Amino acid sequence: MAKLLIVGTVAFDAIETPFGKTDKILGGAATYIGLSASQFGVESGIVSVVGGDFPEEYLKMLNSKNIDTSGIEIIENGKTFFWSGKYHNDLNTRDTLTTDLNVLADFNPVVPKNFIDCDFLMLGNLHPSVQMAVIEQIPVRPKLVVLDTMNFWMDNTWDELIKVINKVDVITINDEEARQLSGEYSLVRAAQKIHKMGPNYVVIKKGEHGALLFNGENVFFAPALPLEEVFDPTGAGDTFAGGFIGYMASTHDISFNNMKRAVIFGSNLASFCVEKFGTERMENLSKVEVQNRLQQFKQLTQFEIELS
Ligand code: AMP
Repeated sequence: MAKLLIVGTVAFDAIETPFGKTDKILGGAATYIGLSASQFGVESGIVSVVGGDFPEEYLKMLNSKNIDTSGIEIIENGKTFFWSGKYHNDLNTRDTLTTDLNVLADFNPVVPKNFIDCDFLMLGNLHPSVQMAVIEQIPVRPKLVVLDTMNFWMDNTWDELIKVINKVDVITINDEEARQLSGEYSLVRAAQKIHKMGPNYVVIKKGEHGALLFNGENVFFAPALPLEEVFDPTGAGDTFAGGFIGYMASTHDISFNNMKRAVIFGSNLASFCVEKFGTERMENLSKVEVQNRLQQFKQLTQFEIELS
């Protein structure tokens, strides 16, 4: 069975959307990635850090999904990373209100021994130096290294971010971040520039407008499933990334054609994430629901046309 190592924040989030508001709930990039990838039955583990304020029941919940949490360091006298955000009425854009790095500020990640030989590595959103430190601890390069990041790290740790981007096969970012990273408005040009920074594959997430996959001259587009109700988009990008790498790891096939399928699996899972606040929907998602929605996806995107 493929081994998937996930690095990223395990966090407390406070979220405000036009439909309501939460106090501190479970969040974090690695949390969403792990929950999403767990749909594929791969052996996965998380490298992260939390404070003494982090409830054990959250770790147990992750364990119950077969996610190894031995790489989540607990700093007893520290506080867990905290993020809060407020969504605008269209739910496509949000303002970050707070980013308290807390224990993440001085985190030195240690890859657990049983994941040193991981086949797939997902560098979820967190400090690029932490992402780099994890790459450096893995002696044999994994089959596929995927990186996700966000504007916060572009604004604050540009040089470190550029170095780590140079080491990965796939980068997944949203459209706004792709523009910031490349200085190009056209997403096609942005992808070309990002290729030159290192990654052979560039995935640009466009929220409710789907996702684009670029590999040189090859381009693939997957729509997002039109949903009747979107409640809270938090974690959709991470859930997409978790579905993408979880599927790649479960198939062991890193071809462009298989990546297209991975984009569909990622989009499919992200469509569930947004239906409830926080991680709730992903914690209680059945295989049957996932399969049924994949069928809807197929219908949405299939058409016959005769070319003369
Ligand atoms: P997404 O909606 O996919 O961009 O991911 C939202 C998640 O990312 C939330 O659960 C936050 O805890 C986490 N997050 C927010 N800001 C950061 C950051 N600067 N670094 C790492 N994770 C973050």
